[in-house]
Amino acid sequence: MTAWNEEWASGCLPPKVDLHLHTTASDGLLSPSALIEQVAQTGLRTVAICDHDTINGLDEAYEVVGKYPQLDLIAGVELSTTLGESEVHMVGLFIDHQDPHLLETLAEFRGRREGAIERSVKKLNDLGLMITFERVRELAGGAIGRPHIADALMEAGYIKTRDEAFDKYLGDDGPARSRRSPTTTEEGIALIHASGGVAVAAHPQTISKFFDIVGQLKGEGLDGIEVFAEKYDAEDRKRYLDVARKHDLVPVGGSDYHAKGTPDEILPGGLDRPGPASSVVGELQRRRPSRS
Ligand code: AMP
Ligand code: ZN
Ligand code: FE
Ligand code: FE
Repeated sequence: MTAWNEEWASGCLPPKVDLHLHTTASDGLLSPSALIEQVAQTGLRTVAICDHDTINGLDEAYEVVGKYPQLDLIAGVELSTTLGESEVHMVGLFIDHQDPHLLETLAEFRGRREGAIERSVKKLNDLGLMITFERVRELAGGAIGRPHIADALMEAGYIKTRDEAFDKYLGDDGPARSRRSPTTTEEGIALIHASGGVAVAAHPQTISKFFDIVGQLKGEGLDGIEVFAEKYDAEDRKRYLDVARKHDLVPVGGSDYHAKGTPDEILPGGLDRPGPASSVVGELQRRRPSRS
């Protein structure tokens, strides 16, 4: 029934493909240029920048990638979407990063982020942690997110790492968490498709009830799932590969690199775990919707 290719199950070690990277356009700590310069020194041949709710890092990245003929850059984005109680990070790959409708919608999503972050800062202030929304916004520079609150808390000396901020305050049940009005998975997938891209469920290990909802996601048009993702071992990969095979989803993935600099951070092109098979890139391209 499917185009399933056995190569997809084993992936590729050393990795040649990394389809999930972040930059300072959202909550990564390397500029688009610095990120491209770094990945160009690895064995990677195809990478995708997928910042949260923004494609503003892509123009700079495309300028630099021109210096490296061995390296292909895919335009991506990561949307925060929900299906019922499940939060699904939806990565769009091969999107048209000049599509006016996409740009407009992402600007709206970033506006919702600002509101939620402002409410979180207020909750922190009520807890006696005196940081300001203005400072968080300055630290963000681009698409704001909880990691930038963590950075402001770190700067003010309240915590030592981003992870500590999530553990104590910002995690899903944390006292300073605030939610923004949700985009559904269906809307997210449709937005990605309308801009010529394919939709991939990111780090499914973090999606609650994933195995119960994956069939519905497929029905909404999902094209792939991340199998070669951050912190996945061989056993995790097998569970997600089985689901991918069953639902005809392309098994993709990447490091979700933010350049946090923590000792356990997975590096793009790192040699300790496989990346997706190179042939998934062509398969994703074949699955791109035709645009009228
Ligand atoms: P937001 O975009 O505001 O929803 O924040 C989500 C982002 O925060 C994720 O995409 C990660 O980059 C980061 N994040 C989520 N959980 C953690 C955690 N436990 N520790 C550090 N960073 C996290
Ligand atoms: Zn992030
Ligand atoms: Fe994510
Ligand atoms: Fe991510």
